[in-house]
Amino acid sequence: MANYDVDLFVIGGGSGGVRAARIAAEHGARVKLAEEYRLGGTCVIRGCVPKKLLVYASRFHGEFEDAAGFGWTVPHASFDWPTLIANKDREIARLEAAYGATLAKAGVEVVKNRAVLLDSHTAQLSSGDRVRAGYILIATGGTPGYGDHIPGLEHAITSNEAFHLREFPRRIVIQGGGYIAVEFAGIFAGLGSHVTLVYRGENILRGFDHEVRTHLRAELEARGIKVITGCKIAAIEKAGAHFAAHLSNGNQISADQVMFATGRKPNVAKLGLKEAGVDLAKDGGVAVDKYSRTSAENIYAVGDVTNRINLTPVAIREGHAFADTVFGGKPTAVDHANVPTAVFSEPEVGTVGLTETQARAVLGRTDIYRAVFKPLKATLSGRDTRVLMKLVVDGMSDRVVGCHIVGEGAAEMVQLAAVAVKMGASKADFDATVALHPTAAEELVTMRKKTASYAREAAE
Ligand SMILES: Cc1cc2nc3c(=O)[nH]c(=O)nc-3n(C[C@H](O)[C@H](O)[C@H](O)COP(=O)(O)OP(=O)(O)OC[C@H]3O[C@@H](n4cnc5c(N)ncnc54)[C@H](O)[C@@H]3O)c2cc1C
Repeated sequence: MANYDVDLFVIGGGSGGVRAARIAAEHGARVKLAEEYRLGGTCVIRGCVPKKLLVYASRFHGEFEDAAGFGWTVPHASFDWPTLIANKDREIARLEAAYGATLAKAGVEVVKNRAVLLDSHTAQLSSGDRVRAGYILIATGGTPGYGDHIPGLEHAITSNEAFHLREFPRRIVIQGGGYIAVEFAGIFAGLGSHVTLVYRGENILRGFDHEVRTHLRAELEARGIKVITGCKIAAIEKAGAHFAAHLSNGNQISADQVMFATGRKPNVAKLGLKEAGVDLAKDGGVAVDKYSRTSAENIYAVGDVTNRINLTPVAIREGHAFADTVFGGKPTAVDHANVPTAVFSEPEVGTVGLTETQARAVLGRTDIYRAVFKPLKATLSGRDTRVLMKLVVDGMSDRVVGCHIVGEGAAEMVQLAAVAVKMGASKADFDATVALHPTAAEELVTMRKKTASYAREAAE
C-alpha cells in the first residue's frame, strides 16, 4: 500500500471508528481518522455516557422520597440544572481528551475535519486536503430523525439539544416510544418536570417483550409521567416563551420544551457513497457482509451507519473485528445473537434474548416463568412499585432463550444473565444455582413453576 498516503482512513471518531483505528494501528497499519465534531462520538458526547449521568441525577429524587420510611428526614432538597450540566460537560471533556490520548499513543493521526468520499480510495477533507487510502472505514454513526414534517417542527429539540438546555423545562412533551424517549421522560420527571410522553403506537418500547412494555408503562404512570399512545404531535405553536403542542386527537398541551425522540437514521447523507461505489441497504444503512465489507471491496462500514444493532458495544465489536480481519490476519465476523440491552428508565429494564412473542414463533414449545413482586426496599419506603422477572425457555431443549427484567438494577443483572444465555444455560442450570439472599436477582434461580407453556402455532 506504498502508493497511498495511509493504509486506513477512518471517517468518524465514535465508538466504532476509534476502536477500529486503534486496533489497526496496533496491527502496524498507518492510520488517519477524521472527526467533524468531537472525538468519542454519540456515546461519549451526546448519548450513553451523558445520558447515564443525567439518569443518576434524576434518581436522587426517588431516593429522597424513599428515605423517610427508613427514618431519615431529608431537609427540603433543591436541584440546580446548570450545575449538573456544567459537571457533566467537564466529565465529557475529560473523556474526549482521553480518547485523543489513546489514539495518539497508538500512532493514529486525528484530523478535526469533515470527510467526504471522492472515489473508493480518495477522501476530501473540509480543510481542502485530500487523503488517498488503501482501505476506508465508514463509521459515521446515526442522527436523530424527526419523522414526518409538521408545522412548527423547528421549535422541537432532539436528544442532542436536551443535553445542553440553558434552562430546565418545568413542563416537557416528548414524542416517541423508544428507549431514548422513555429514558428522557424518566430523567426530566425525576428532576422535577411535568412530563407527557406521546407515542403513535399502541404502547411504548416496541420490540421489547409485551409484559415488559405494559409493566414499565404502569410504573412510569405511577411516577407521574403522563403516557398518551395512539396519538402524535400534529403541530407545534410558539406562544411567548412557551410552546403549545397540538395533538392528533385534538388536545393541546402547553410546555416549556417539545422534544422529538422518534428514532435515529444512519448518517449517510452527502458522504460521497455513490461516487465510491458503496451501496445502501433497504433500511437506509450501508449494506455490509458479515465482515462489515461494503459493495466496494476496500471500503468497510461499522456501527450505527450500518443499522444492524445500534448500540455502543456492538459498534466497538464491529470496529475491532474489522481491524483484526483486514490488518490482523484474523478474519472475524461479529456474532449479533443474544446482545443484552437496557432501558435506563425509572425503574430500569434489562433484556437479553428472545421475547415471548419471538420464541413462540420459532420454538416447538415455549415455557414462561414469571415473577412479579414487591421489592424488599419498597416494604419500608412505602413506594408502590413491583419488579418483573421473566424467563423464556425452549420447552424442547430446556435452554433459557430470553431473560427480561424491570426493576432496580435490571441492567446490571441482565449483563450477567446474558453470560448464561450466551453459553446456552438450561433452566435446570438456573435452578441448580443457589440463590444469593436477599436480592431481587435470586428470583431468577428460584422460579420453579411455569406460568405458561405454548406449543408453536401452526403456520397458516
Ligand atoms: C441519547 C442516546 C443514548 C444512547 N444510549 C445508549 C446506551 O445507553 N447504550 C448503548 O449501548 N448505546 C446507546 N446509544 C447508542 C450509541 O450512542 C451508538 O450506538 C454508538 O455511539 C454508535 O457508534 P458509532 O461509532 O457507530 O457512531 P457514533 O458514535 O455516532 O460516531 C460517529 C462519529 O462520526 C462523526 N462523523 C459523521 N460524519 C462524518 C464525516 N463525514 N466526517 C467526519 N466525521 C463524521 C460524528 O461526528 C460522530 O462523532 C445512545 C444513543 C443516543 C443518541
